[in-house]
Amino acid sequence: MSPLFLLPYLFYFIYQSYVALKKRAAARKAAVPVQQDAEKNSILALDSKDGLATSFSIDVGITTPTSVRNLHVAQVNPRPTVNDPSFDDRDDYADADRGFIAALEPGIIKTADGKGTAWDLEKYSFLDKGAEALPTIHPNLVRQGQISIKQGLYEVAKGVYQVRALDVSNMTILEGDKGIVVIDPLTSVECARAAIELYYENRGRRPLTGLIFSHSHVDHFGGSAGVVPDGFDLASIPIIAPQGFLDAAVKENVIAGPAMLKRGLSMFGQALPTNPSGLVGVGLGLGASNGDRSLYIPNQLITKTGEEHTVDGVHIIFQIVPDTEAPAEMNFFFPATNVLLISETATNCMHNITTLRGAQVRDAKAWSLYLDEAISLFGGATDVLIGSHNWPMWGRRRVQERLATQRDLYGYLHDQTVRLMNQGKTGTEIAEILELPPAVSRAWYCRGFYGSLSHNVKGIYQRYLTWFDGRAAHLWQYPPQEEGQRYVDTLGGVATLSEKAEAYIAQGDSRFAVTLLSHAVAAAGGPASTSSSPELVRAKQLLIVAYENLGFGAENATWRNFFLTAALELRTGRDFRDFVPSRATLADNLPVAQWFDVLAVQLNGERATAATSTPAKLAIDVDVVDETLPEDKRWRLIVSNGVLTRRRLTPGVLAAMETAADDTTEKVKLSLVLTRAQLLANLKGALPVESIKYEGDLGALQTLLDLVAA
Ligand SMILES: [Zn+2]
Repeated sequence: MSPLFLLPYLFYFIYQSYVALKKRAAARKAAVPVQQDAEKNSILALDSKDGLATSFSIDVGITTPTSVRNLHVAQVNPRPTVNDPSFDDRDDYADADRGFIAALEPGIIKTADGKGTAWDLEKYSFLDKGAEALPTIHPNLVRQGQISIKQGLYEVAKGVYQVRALDVSNMTILEGDKGIVVIDPLTSVECARAAIELYYENRGRRPLTGLIFSHSHVDHFGGSAGVVPDGFDLASIPIIAPQGFLDAAVKENVIAGPAMLKRGLSMFGQALPTNPSGLVGVGLGLGASNGDRSLYIPNQLITKTGEEHTVDGVHIIFQIVPDTEAPAEMNFFFPATNVLLISETATNCMHNITTLRGAQVRDAKAWSLYLDEAISLFGGATDVLIGSHNWPMWGRRRVQERLATQRDLYGYLHDQTVRLMNQGKTGTEIAEILELPPAVSRAWYCRGFYGSLSHNVKGIYQRYLTWFDGRAAHLWQYPPQEEGQRYVDTLGGVATLSEKAEAYIAQGDSRFAVTLLSHAVAAAGGPASTSSSPELVRAKQLLIVAYENLGFGAENATWRNFFLTAALELRTGRDFRDFVPSRATLADNLPVAQWFDVLAVQLNGERATAATSTPAKLAIDVDVVDETLPEDKRWRLIVSNGVLTRRRLTPGVLAAMETAADDTTEKVKLSLVLTRAQLLANLKGALPVESIKYEGDLGALQTLLDLVAA
């Protein structure tokens, strides 16, 4: 029914590398010219025109001399060993293999233009047998990778199929009376197409009779166009999603989108080469695909738990689980086969209560209670548990135990963090002392490959008590560079600091060495500092090793990626976050109010303050003539003291206000009457064309856009 549209600003696009790298030459130039050698690192880049990821190499600036490299010893979190999971437990391997029908050979998917690579599993072949012995990857993470790499089409139950590991997420296919219902068509169109073709090759071509999106994250709907044939009448099938899906899908991650992209670059290891010393996965899967994204607007929303629908003859009972892993999310139970699709609320690892790429902290308590609800609703009948990521689990008792253990995981994290913070402990302290109950800690599916106990505890603390830990000493700290300079000064210079840091690394405390050495690097202006002072180079070499020790020792894939990306930044002399644009895109599917909100956070406060100080306040009226939502029709944009305020004008008020601006707002300088599309074009910088109705000074709009441009 509705056209596809691209969502280039969404957070998950980090997976496909939204990075607008300029030129290889520029990267080379900026690399610190010390000890060049033949070592290269692959940096994902984005052609800003077509959004396709490409790959190229930049010379590594800093290499580590042997004397420093000898300090390489992966630093593993020394805490619990008694309650570690057992490598003798091979059930996950068996579950991941069960029902196997066929794999994509080779496991490589090209981008639509045939030039790029949307997906490449072959790069992860080093995770094969024996990889547990690699000194550069935590053995638990190797295990997670070995199971995550099992790819292809699988039969989960009669008429229920999954295509796994052809993206970060799973596609689930239900065989109905007349055709197939596709649930969660992956992240990219290319991968979804490859996945559905793999199904067709093995099960025969069947018409699409329904589409279902489990939740509002792009790795569960972005590939939609890949499973819908050209010219298909979308109105002829149900497109089902949880209530609030579209709103969450288009709105989440817009305002702070660029910041999330920048942090996501580190979290998902997008700048890292895929090898035993680089990217080895993300915990929920190996990584997400590159390629085109799409979205269809749902025509049927699930609004309450217990709602039942029959789609192409397949009976489904829904459980709504909003504000757990996504703002709009649901689980499904299929009574005919006793399969429970738990979406992303019980993955095969600990999920994020707070995510390192940045987002509002999720509700661990609600998460835990929704899992208990899933047990009471479906636990007594479920024989197979499947998810939107990772592999299934068979057996009623096993599934019940799994759901209960994960319920307790999130419940324990929440309750004990709150108990300890009420005793006066800070998030940092709680993260060090809290230990999960033995049965939780020993369960492979509770291990922190994606979320971690440490950062989830800090997130729960933050959700209740903010960033401030209540310690006066932390209330007014210097920013990193200024603080770094004072530490360097106090320690008698960079050389002495490095000497001490080296001793800490040698003692196996790379964690504190990172703290010390990052002061030295921050003092010099950060990883992109062009100083070639030998003392600083030495400090950087040591810091690279210290970061790599932490990365190699990390059980958590996202921690690993953060540490190794930091090391790569030091090697290359580039701050990778600079590659991500700082401005969110004004996408045409956003509500008008959100366009204005995006502009407001792009307004250059200083210049806008100067340009709009009394008596030059700016006010522009906008009447959107074809807006379907009445409340979005009439607006007044006011720029005052460097702030862009959007005021919604109720019908009838506009005319009166045109002549009677309020006391604090100057007279309206421009009134525009235009369509939504024309408004968007204007906000993007195309000046009004003659066909637009307006009164007043068009220059007022240009003034506003100029203030946003900088
Ligand atoms: Zn997902």
